[in-house]
Amino acid sequence: MKITAIRLDRMRIPLDPPFLAAWDPVPRRWFGATLVRVETDEGVTGVGSGGTMDGFAPYEELFLGRDPRQIVRHVQTIETIGFHVGRYWPLEAALWDIAGKLSGQPVAVLFGGARASLPAYASFGELKSPAERADSVVAAREAGFRAVKIRISRADVASGVAAVRAAREAVGDGVEIMVDLNQWWRMPGDISPALDAASVRRLASELRDLGVLWLEEPLPAGEVDGMRMLREQTGIRVAGGEMARTPAELLDVISAGALDVVQPDAVLAVGMLRARTVGEVALLRHHWFTPHTWTDGLGLIANLHLVAGVGGGPYVEFPYDPPGWTEQRRDFFLAAPVRIDSGGCLQVPAGPGLGVQIDEDAVSHWALP
Ligand SMILES: [Mg+2]
Repeated sequence: MKITAIRLDRMRIPLDPPFLAAWDPVPRRWFGATLVRVETDEGVTGVGSGGTMDGFAPYEELFLGRDPRQIVRHVQTIETIGFHVGRYWPLEAALWDIAGKLSGQPVAVLFGGARASLPAYASFGELKSPAERADSVVAAREAGFRAVKIRISRADVASGVAAVRAAREAVGDGVEIMVDLNQWWRMPGDISPALDAASVRRLASELRDLGVLWLEEPLPAGEVDGMRMLREQTGIRVAGGEMARTPAELLDVISAGALDVVQPDAVLAVGMLRARTVGEVALLRHHWFTPHTWTDGLGLIANLHLVAGVGGGPYVEFPYDPPGWTEQRRDFFLAAPVRIDSGGCLQVPAGPGLGVQIDEDAVSHWALP
């Protein structure tokens, strides 16, 4: 069996200006989506997505003519490319889609088959006023979510804490609340100072008193001792690693006792195979493993197979922040949107591979020139 072609369908995603401005002053390509299709000489095609795949074309020949089932070899090859240029992990997701289709099994089963579903948490992206955020948490609870994650800007911690407090007062203890400070990574061009460790420690103490389940990426990448001390000094759970560049970075942070919740995104950070290894190490150390999923619906599904396969949790991230971020934006090129069930859970697609169908009309409609 051989890979005969790797096709990239590049698409744009419209985003509301307020949402976009919260993340980055300049709209750029990383808010686009690229569907990767790996075609084979036996007619089986795998799909993956999660990054732009910009700059991949010169490296295509490293995969053409190879057996798509040699996934370790392909992962190692993607790592050598990523050392120099981009991280082309959506390609690996497409290879797992092929492997699942060939075996007639969901990728989650190939990854261990620990669970068939996981409770989802509504992961918010926008910065909203305390009243608006409290309303959105109430609405998320009514939509079936048992947990939510609120983003706090390091530029306005007071408003962020006020939003968390308003949310807690609105829903009591019936909804778990997580908080993300997003300090482990930066948008290109963002060279503003990080929030310092003393401020973060005060923030963590306030959030702990508000019953926050975890504080995500409280300190910049590499601040391993700081994250460990934050855990020890405040008692709050620390989460992170969604955009880590290597498995070694994640394993070192776990070994240093700096994380309670380990979150590499399988299609952005280190790939599915490596994230599986990191996840299993985290679980063997009795930490939580629950990957970041903020790319698009197909990237979300790849991470769902991973976390369900290895038995991570306790929740899976579900990007959801209407009206700025909706299933129409997240899942626009899937034939069916990804939805939680009546119990607030995401079911792993039961079909072989990643188990998703592509909406070809949407791929054409949103195609970048
Ligand atoms: Mg995050």
